Amino acid sequence: MATAHTVLGEIPPSQMGITLTHEHLMIAWGSARYDRAPEYKPEPLIKEICDDLGAASKDHGVQTIIDVTTPDMGRDMEIMVEVSRRTNVNVIAGTGFYRQMAGIPLYFTMASSEQAEEMMLHDIQQGVGPNRVKCGVIKLAISQSKLLPAEEKVFRAAGRVQKKLGVPIVMHTTGWDLIEGGSGPRVATDLVVSEGGDPEHIQISHCEGARGNLPLLTELANRGFTLAFDRVGRSVEADLPVAAVVGGLIVGGFANRLTLSHDSVGAWFPATPGTYRKSGWSAAHKVFIPLLKKGGVSDKQIHQILVENPQRLFAF
Ligand SMILES: [Zn+2]
Repeated sequence: MATAHTVLGEIPPSQMGITLTHEHLMIAWGSARYDRAPEYKPEPLIKEICDDLGAASKDHGVQTIIDVTTPDMGRDMEIMVEVSRRTNVNVIAGTGFYRQMAGIPLYFTMASSEQAEEMMLHDIQQGVGPNRVKCGVIKLAISQSKLLPAEEKVFRAAGRVQKKLGVPIVMHTTGWDLIEGGSGPRVATDLVVSEGGDPEHIQISHCEGARGNLPLLTELANRGFTLAFDRVGRSVEADLPVAAVVGGLIVGGFANRLTLSHDSVGAWFPATPGTYRKSGWSAAHKVFIPLLKKGGVSDKQIHQILVENPQRLFAF
């Protein structure tokens, strides 16, 4: 039976419950964790993350977080394990790479596509670090409407890993404007599928970037991809146009192809001033979902988006 691969082990998809499909428990850019090691104290970070996640769990029933923080974003598997233990929220950890301009380390820009494939296979099958904590999702990211060279290498590698293991892919996107008939998401998904990737297990993140291009969004949904609107809940003003697009897709019969999330960061290291990308994990329930309901979206459809679609997408 297909299972969801959490940092505490495999669980049946029926135990995933309400799932936020694109989040970050913690980001520590570059080598901050190592360069500033004496200042890197997990306990205050864990507490900060648990306060937010615990409230989302208690108040809104959030039961699973897909953490798409890659190694190049400062992923810390031990923090994920501890947060999951303390909050009883399932955490699925990501392997893979952020975009070339801000993520993929120099080593992997020079390495072969097969070496990137090897790294991802290792993180998923053998696990990370001394405690061998396993990843259950691949994160990929594009910088613009065409893939940069290192991105092409890792996207091809991820397609092959997905073909071998069935592991889900979450794809950060940008470059939605159609340039010469193409667009970042279309080019990127075509490439992964050309290596054997399976649209049924691929989430296209940041679909709010399409700014309501329904022909392109419905084309991708019809091909089997899941469309993630994963920066919701930041304000009513920002959410209104996104709710209109999501509502339109639901009316069009695509409720089975949608997920919602915040792209919220639970804690930053080093601490980042202000509340940058820290909407919190209750915001969708407080701000965005009420807008959908006002527009006539049913509880059954919301359950499909928050619970059923992630089960299909993330179990392998
Ligand atoms: Zn993100």
